[in-house]
Amino acid sequence: MSIPYTIVVGLEVHVQLLTQSKLFCGCPTTFGAPPNTQVCPVCLGLPGSLPVMNRRAFELALRTAVALNCEIAPFTKWDRKQYYYPDLPKGYQISQYDLPFSFDGWLEISDAKERFEAKRIGIIRAHLEEDAGKSMHDEAAGRADSRIDLNRTGSPLLEIVSQPDIRSPLEAKAFLTELRLLLLYLEVSDCNMQEGSLRVDANVNLHIPLPDGHIAKTPIVEIKNVNSFRAVERAISYEAERQYQLWEETRQELGTVPKQTRGWDDEANVTRGQRHKEESSDYRYFPDPDLTPVTVTEEQVQKVREAIGETPSELRRRLEVTHGISAYDSEVLVNQGPAAIEYFVELAERIRDGKSAANWVTQDVLRVMHDRGGTIESFPIPAVGLADLIGRVQGGDFDTSKAREIFAEMVESGKTAGEVVAEKGIVKVDESELRELCRELLAANPKIVADVQAGKQAAAGNLIGQAKKRNPNVNPGRVKEICLELIQAMR
Ligand code: ZN
Ligand code: MN
Repeated sequence: MSIPYTIVVGLEVHVQLLTQSKLFCGCPTTFGAPPNTQVCPVCLGLPGSLPVMNRRAFELALRTAVALNCEIAPFTKWDRKQYYYPDLPKGYQISQYDLPFSFDGWLEISDAKERFEAKRIGIIRAHLEEDAGKSMHDEAAGRADSRIDLNRTGSPLLEIVSQPDIRSPLEAKAFLTELRLLLLYLEVSDCNMQEGSLRVDANVNLHIPLPDGHIAKTPIVEIKNVNSFRAVERAISYEAERQYQLWEETRQELGTVPKQTRGWDDEANVTRGQRHKEESSDYRYFPDPDLTPVTVTEEQVQKVREAIGETPSELRRRLEVTHGISAYDSEVLVNQGPAAIEYFVELAERIRDGKSAANWVTQDVLRVMHDRGGTIESFPIPAVGLADLIGRVQGGDFDTSKAREIFAEMVESGKTAGEVVAEKGIVKVDESELRELCRELLAANPKIVADVQAGKQAAAGNLIGQAKKRNPNVNPGRVKEICLELIQAMR
């Protein structure tokens, strides 16, 4: 191993839940409205206003926590996290401190390309809290002012905190990809990173084994403001190298300096120091006196558990076991979402060949779909139509490359396989006719026959070309088979 350290990463993910209204008031959560038009006395924190919890937000959070294999607390309460910032008009954020509604879960990550072994990443906790507003600093536009938009203030956020079980930038990306997929399947968030529906902070440090057996741990740095999964990977790589260099210079270990927060600069590809992170005692948490605690019964949790369908990882396993497809193909399919899986399953069942169905869907259907910019629901060939086409290949009417031509024509014209075949005059060449053709070819090409007999099987390829010229409807694979068989019989 060339790298003299282990990277240790824990992720903190904030997910905006798909509710119509905010967490403690009835204001809408729609993205992109004119600034400060979606506010009310509650989310502005005006005196005398009282918050009431949004049941729907709690349900979505509960569904996620159960799917993340978390323990659900029978009793949970709300706490005020006090800090001052212009986009936080109340002067505190309603969050959950010592009694989060869920804790101790896990999410399994794996890599179809097997660059790391499948493993469970622990979830320390998942709690609900309200979002802050947005500060817009306009230095770039040549203005010195900052403006505040409070539309987002009070929107429901689910904060998910992982254990520091992640050991590489690649694993971090895999965790986020799997988490995002799960959230999409559960329909709890749109996970739109550009709109801030999914925000990631990464806690990173290094474990450096020393010759004397001691393992030096570098101070933990929290990287903020990472706005894509790719950026998370790059930020962790950068931070690991930076910490290793710093450690070689200073030998500073964990606990000797306060925790630092650094921001990721996506253009410069570096992290930059921001501030020393507050300790949780600086926030002066205390229970919110305006909100009643929430109780959850075992019965409720059971109901939620039953209502959750297959998770993406269960789905991948089912596709692999039931249809005999590779981990790679199941990953591609599941990443596409439920409609693509339905399409695949129908096709696989109709043609009774999972591998062939996976090849057609992942290579042909999805490629054409992406090129055309549509969805699987609007794809011009339904699964039953593609099954008809592949069935003709299985029946020996023509080979796969001919089928691809027909497929392209079906996509363009919206016609069925039968219609395209009839139009192009593609007819299955009768077996006896095909044999006769092969006999003629062999008689006319003694040199090729001799080459094949001398062990050069590839020489038969030339015969396929000649056969196609004589009759474009011949099945090349079958021509080759018959020719080799006839040559064999000549001995
Ligand atoms: Zn409001
Ligand atoms: Mn938070």
